[in-house]
Amino acid sequence: MAILDIITPENPILRQPAEPVSRDQLKTLQPLIDDMIETMRAANGVGLAAPQVGRSLRLAVVETLPQYDDDGDEIPDSRDLFVIVNPEIVWQSRKEEDGIEGCLSIPGYVGEVSRHYAVRVQTQNRYGKKQRLKFNGWTARIFQHEIDHLNGILFTDKLTAPENYWTEEEYYKDDEEESAERVVSAD
Ligand SMILES: [Zn+2]
Repeated sequence: MAILDIITPENPILRQPAEPVSRDQLKTLQPLIDDMIETMRAANGVGLAAPQVGRSLRLAVVETLPQYDDDGDEIPDSRDLFVIVNPEIVWQSRKEEDGIEGCLSIPGYVGEVSRHYAVRVQTQNRYGKKQRLKFNGWTARIFQHEIDHLNGILFTDKLTAPENYWTEEEYYKDDEEESAERVVSAD
């Protein structure tokens, strides 16, 4: 396995609609899938789409956030890993939610994006088996973000407002200040 280079928006591949993956092709893509999983994990990401590693293919990997017990400790094996091939959103809730997103292709920046609260995704897994998955909340957000990548769309195209875009440093600094203010005003 290998850690792959993640491309940034200067590379036009990130803006191209990706090509569908055929069944025969999928057999040859198993090493790429393993490398994408390894690359996502090495970058502490929750998702990675093939165009982000320079391959214009409708293929992405997603790993959900861990769950925590009452003491705040991570529950072992509470993360789910998905390999999605030719995924399509076949239903989306009318309800939307704003949330803060980043992207491994846009390192150092975050922005506020509105996403459907729940989605149903029709996809194939890494072996070509058809699956229908339903997600809500943060996991639904990750799937929408990754499927956007397969259509050449980045989260920066979908900001709730142009000014709702920050460097990580700015965002987390403000966040700390706000929490400090909250603590002060709670007295
Ligand atoms: Zn991304």
